[in-house]
Amino acid sequence: MEGPVLKTELFPNPAPIDSIDLLKAGRHYLVRVRGGGLTGYSEAHSSVMSVAYPILLKRVIPNFVKKDARQLERIFGEAYVAQSNYKWQGLPFWVSMAAVEIAILDLLGQAAKKPLGELLGTVTKREIGVYRASGNRGNAPEAEIDYLKKIAAEDGAAAIKYRLGARMRYNDASTRRDLALIELTRKTFGEKMTIYADANGSYDVPMALRIGRAMEATNHRFFEEPAPFDYYDETREIAAALKIPIALGEEEMSLRGFRRIIEHRIADIVQPDLMYFGGMIRSIKVARMAAAAGMECTPHMSGGGLGYLYVAHFASCVPNAGPHQEYKGMDGTLPVECATAPLKSVNGKLTVPTGPGLGVTIDPDFLKRAEVVRG
Ligand SMILES: [Mg+2]
Repeated sequence: MEGPVLKTELFPNPAPIDSIDLLKAGRHYLVRVRGGGLTGYSEAHSSVMSVAYPILLKRVIPNFVKKDARQLERIFGEAYVAQSNYKWQGLPFWVSMAAVEIAILDLLGQAAKKPLGELLGTVTKREIGVYRASGNRGNAPEAEIDYLKKIAAEDGAAAIKYRLGARMRYNDASTRRDLALIELTRKTFGEKMTIYADANGSYDVPMALRIGRAMEATNHRFFEEPAPFDYYDETREIAAALKIPIALGEEEMSLRGFRRIIEHRIADIVQPDLMYFGGMIRSIKVARMAAAAGMECTPHMSGGGLGYLYVAHFASCVPNAGPHQEYKGMDGTLPVECATAPLKSVNGKLTVPTGPGLGVTIDPDFLKRAEVVRG
C-alpha cells in the first residue's frame, strides 16, 4: 500500500509545474497543467466540479504549483495534510485531487513520451472489455429489457449491468421488478452475456440473500452494493453466505477503508471510483492490495466525460482489473481526437490510446471557447 506507483525513473529531467488552471467551456470543466513547454489536461468530473470548484481552486491547486511533477506522489500526500485538507475529504476534495493528478500525469506522459499506463505500471492490455450500464430504476421490467437491448446493441457489448432495489431501500414493487429482471435478463441475452447488477445499498441481509440466490441461479457475475455502503458487517455476512461475488467501493474514500474491506473479505471485488477516490495512483494502490489477496479491482466510473479514457489506461496496466470496465457511451462527451484508437467501444471492446499521456488531443476550437474559472 505504501510503495510508490509512479515510475519516476522515466523522467531524468525536472518537470516543473508552472501553472494549473480550471477551464470551463459549456458544461465541461477541464484542468490544465502547464510546465516546461508542455500542457496536460484532464476533464474534472464536470457535474461535481460545477459545485466543488472553490475547493479545487483554494485547497488543491495551490499545493501543486511551482513543484516538480516527478514528485507527484509526495506532493499529493502533502496536499492531503496541508491546510487540514484531510478534514475536508469527501467527494468534492478527492474529485479535485483526481482532476489535478490526471492532468499532471498527462503532462508527465508527454515528458516521457509514454502512455499513462506505462507511467504507472506495465501495459499488458491494448483492448479493454467494457460493460454497458443502465441507470434506470422503477421502470417496468419489459421496458428495462428494451433499454438494455438498445445500449448493448450500440457497441455489441458482451456485458451489461442494471439496477436493483429502490436505491438505499426496497419495497414490494422494487422486489417484484428485481426478481423479474434477474430472470428476464438471462432469458433475453442468453448464456454468453456477462450480467452484473447493482443494488446501490438497497437491502437488509435477508433480502440481499434472497436476491443474491436468484442471481446465482441465473449465473450473474457480481452483485454490487447489496447493503448500504458503510454497513461493513452486514456486507461481510452477505459475502460469506453467497457464492456470487459481492462488489463494493464506489463510495469508499479511505485507503485504509479499502485495506479493511480486503483484509476482512467484506466484499469479493473492490471498486474505487477513479474520480471520487482521488485518481489513478490511489486506485492502483487499492488494486495492488486486492491483487495480494487474489481479488479483482474493477474501478467504478462516475461522471462520464473522459472517464472512459481514465478507466482504459487503468485497466491497461492493472492485471487484476477484471474482464469488463464500465463504459457510458459517447453522447455529449468532450470533443477529442486520437490518432491511435477509435475512442469508442467496438464489439464490446475499447482500444487504449498509445500516444503520450492520455493519448488524445482536445479540439483546439473547443479550447478557444474555454474560459479560466477564478475563485
Ligand atoms: Mg454502483
